[in-house]
Amino acid sequence: MDAETDLEAGRILFAQPSTFMLGVTRLDRLPEGSMPEIAFAGRSNVGKSSLINALAGRKALARVSNTPGRTQEINLFDLGGRICLVDLPGYGYAKAPKEQVEAWTRLVFAYLRGRPNLRRVCLLIDARHGLKKADDETIKLLGTAAVPFQIVVTKVDLPAKSALLPTLASIEASIRKTRGALLEIMTTSSRTQQGLPELRAELANLAL
Ligand code: GDP
Repeated sequence: MDAETDLEAGRILFAQPSTFMLGVTRLDRLPEGSMPEIAFAGRSNVGKSSLINALAGRKALARVSNTPGRTQEINLFDLGGRICLVDLPGYGYAKAPKEQVEAWTRLVFAYLRGRPNLRRVCLLIDARHGLKKADDETIKLLGTAAVPFQIVVTKVDLPAKSALLPTLASIEASIRKTRGALLEIMTTSSRTQQGLPELRAELANLAL
């Protein structure tokens, strides 16, 4: 398919009705999936809910500005019966107690290892901050779980372009040797919609 056709396929997929399916705090509560799944992971406040809402053209599909440190839930959304979007709990909240970090790691690792339909993890990184220590740990976890993952940089409307380019180069250098890493980094802004058609197109390739 050429780029135009891909963009159109992405537009059509994300124009389908999206519905909240369920939220779980334990993996054994998650029904076996029948659709391909795309998971979204990132530090708290990275713009994950905003991105899911913007992709689906919805205002409040995923809840924006979750209180950091609240119950950690995996939320599933059905997009037109063709793909399942999975909102993984945010991580990296500085004041999170150790047990909570461990609980996050256990839940997310079990999810990553236990979902045969998981096609891709979008790992969201804030354009202003680049990779933080907690992101490096998540990248290690993704590598160990051997799932395909792609970096999606969020909030690209915020930094100056001169600051963004070195950030992108440094992310690329860090993930280059990790198993499962896709080397194409997507740059997005939920505020300006920059990069959203391209991300929709990329994800539409994985849909039924
Ligand atoms: P989450 O905790 O990862 O789900 O992050 P949210 O989606 O709740 O966003 C955190 C904050 O970043 C909110 O104040 C959003 O308004 C803001 N935000 C999210 N996406 C963007 C963006 O693309 N550009 C800008 N400038 N701000 C954003």
